[in-house]
Amino acid sequence: MASRLGPDGARSAATRQRAATGHGDAPVARVEPGEDASAPAPNEPRVLLALPAEANVAAPPALRPGTLYIVATPIGNLEDITLRALRVLREADIVAAEDTRHTRGLLSRYGIARPLVSYREQNRASSARALLRQLETGTVALVSDAGMPAIADPGAELIRQVVARGGRVEVVPGPNAALAALVASGLSPAPFLFAGFLSRQRGDRRRQLTNLAARPETLVFYEAPHRVVATLADLSAILGDRPAAACRELTKLHEEVRRSALGALLDHYRATPPRGEFVLVVGGATEEAARAGESHALSDTEVDAALLAAMERGERMRAVVADLAARGGRGRRDVYARWQALRAQEARD
Ligand code: SAM
Repeated sequence: MASRLGPDGARSAATRQRAATGHGDAPVARVEPGEDASAPAPNEPRVLLALPAEANVAAPPALRPGTLYIVATPIGNLEDITLRALRVLREADIVAAEDTRHTRGLLSRYGIARPLVSYREQNRASSARALLRQLETGTVALVSDAGMPAIADPGAELIRQVVARGGRVEVVPGPNAALAALVASGLSPAPFLFAGFLSRQRGDRRRQLTNLAARPETLVFYEAPHRVVATLADLSAILGDRPAAACRELTKLHEEVRRSALGALLDHYRATPPRGEFVLVVGGATEEAARAGESHALSDTEVDAALLAAMERGERMRAVVADLAARGGRGRRDVYARWQALRAQEARD
């Protein structure tokens, strides 16, 4: 039997009751085989999901009051939403979203109309207070603009607060740009290190990369299109010309996965300005490279990386220069000149 949505996308009280008691229809919007999903009745939302006749979906339990549901949503292709995500969004008392307009569009696409509140970087303290109050008796579904909430967005802070109060958090897994890119890159998927967005400040960004330079894990970065070239330049200068993949517009019309060494990626995006959303995946440091580094004089890049790391740790210049000169087969004067150049650059940044 088809579970039709009411004009506001909500299920009838009777249907809700059946779902709450674990009996009755599977609470997903669906059309029966043979029905025309593209022709909704007047005033009725378009129903987008068709289940095969033989699908035997057991009625799921009702949402548990006091629970924060972390609901992953598509990163591009709207088909990438799970049945469970749709049900939770339909049944939660409140949906907390980074951008309520954006999320309203997603929900209305699926015929869902729930109260939306804003939870974003700029209001997260006050919004979190209100959501925690809501969770004393009700349910909240947290979504981000795209993908898995808390991954490079303010959701992590709300989860931390709920957990700190001994509250219930339930994850409704689904799309995530980092994992999609990691898998698409063809690089070793395990172990991997998710670094999120690097700092926008060049000096900080270079220091972050210096700290990652010896890590053996495949590295995964998010980046905005207008910073892709600068980030690729730093990646290639500090990590060396490693194998990498630039994963652009995943799951969307112009999806592209460009697999090559960092230097070639840099050349490409210098010539073709990057557009759209990007994940950069970079191979980890190999033992071979580490061994080669030990047995050879340090290159300029390696000296700079070591100097930046030492600055980050607040080490004394004199000792660092002496150590690098001895260990790296370089002249003291030469290392000292590089230290000064980096300091001057920091001051300019
Ligand atoms: N929470 C999201 C997730 O689970 O992937 C990530 C949110 S973060 C604010 C947004 C960043 O994710 C974008 O700047 C981009 O780096 C990456 N991203 C999101 N959607 C993407 C897509 N379709 N293709 C490539 N990267 C994407």
